[in-house]
Amino acid sequence: MINLINELWYLKRDIVSDDFDRALARLAEEVPMSILEYPSGKRCWTWIIPEKWTCHAAYLETLDGQHLIDYADHPLHVVSYSLPFEGIVDRDELLQHLHVHPRLPQAIPFVFKYYDRDWGLCASQELRDSLKNDRYRVTIHTSFEPGKLKIGEIVIPGQSEEAVMLVNHLCHPAMVNDDLTGVVVGLEVARTLLERSSRGKKPYYTYRFLILPETIGSVVYLSQHEDLIHKMVAGLFLEMLGNDSPHALQGSFQPDSQIDRCLMSALQGLDPHGYTAPYRTVIANDERQFNAPGVRVPMLSLSRVEPAGSPTRPYREYHSSLDTPAVVTQERLETSRQLVLDLIDAWENNQYIVNRFKGEVFCSGYGIWIDYRINPDGHRRLFEIMERCDGAHTVADIATELSISFQSVWEVVALLKSKELVWLSRTPHPTDPHL
Ligand SMILES: [Zn+2]
Repeated sequence: MINLINELWYLKRDIVSDDFDRALARLAEEVPMSILEYPSGKRCWTWIIPEKWTCHAAYLETLDGQHLIDYADHPLHVVSYSLPFEGIVDRDELLQHLHVHPRLPQAIPFVFKYYDRDWGLCASQELRDSLKNDRYRVTIHTSFEPGKLKIGEIVIPGQSEEAVMLVNHLCHPAMVNDDLTGVVVGLEVARTLLERSSRGKKPYYTYRFLILPETIGSVVYLSQHEDLIHKMVAGLFLEMLGNDSPHALQGSFQPDSQIDRCLMSALQGLDPHGYTAPYRTVIANDERQFNAPGVRVPMLSLSRVEPAGSPTRPYREYHSSLDTPAVVTQERLETSRQLVLDLIDAWENNQYIVNRFKGEVFCSGYGIWIDYRINPDGHRRLFEIMERCDGAHTVADIATELSISFQSVWEVVALLKSKELVWLSRTPHPTDPHL
């Protein structure tokens, strides 16, 4: 994962651009991937696909020709999708078009104006503060031309056509944690699922991994696959998975959905340092498009984000030139990759638990009784879980009701199943005779 990051991070991966295409083509060498293409100008629901944008050169100089800012030194020096501009401007006008990072005085900020267009440059606060001349010369050579928005799609067919959407974006030029880490973790998860399939372990759900430009990419994909939306039962967005912050799992717009209940309770059992939070309270990304009206796919988001209240939330180097490979480690990427796989395993196991028994189970007769004098918590938990095995509760429902981890419920369910006391169903199968 680190090798791919080192190879791709510095590319100027603006939403529709040659470098975005290069990065996507390189990723497609790693796993079987279809590259979907949609032309500039195409209407997609209420949106229009923008033109391909290229910056050929851009700099700020003093009137005697001293370069102060140069795109050749760092791609973030120009606002993504900046209009071209050439001329001498006074200091006040320049400062209206010269963006700085709100927190990091030495960093160049990431600024984009894809639709509300203007010309603009970006610099460190330190450089901005040093500008004392009355007038400066600005040169921005950018071009807008018809292009193709590209989306990478990896499909891992399941036993069912019901689909789980795993989404990450690739459109942040010369940055790493946001957003390349989500892409490489997603890619490795896809690779593992493909390997399992090739060994005959086909998942129940079909998994669709999308690598796209943020927001517009999701709108384009969904609007061009309307027939698939009703099959999308769940989703997870991935990004910011290499920095040194705890895992944050943000819920979907539908907090009572099965995927919310499952992943939230599963995280509890998988990562003692991780935390969960409601929709739109951690970070906003492509999950917004999937959760939106007319789509309503419950999509959660997994990232590493400093806890609420931290002054450097989401993380210190966010949207700046300091978001380099130095922010991430292979070890943290590996931990996140394993966590995503474990979350997927929990989701695959989340089924309705249907009782074959009536009344309370004769536990000692089945050898599953837990002595309350030795293990009072285990004893109580066994009974609390068993009395909810009624064909109307899933594993995740029980975990949520009891505020315990998915895994602790699953352990008991697996035991009951091994004794043939319950069976598992993908659909509700209530056994209450009054229903
Ligand atoms: Zn971002």
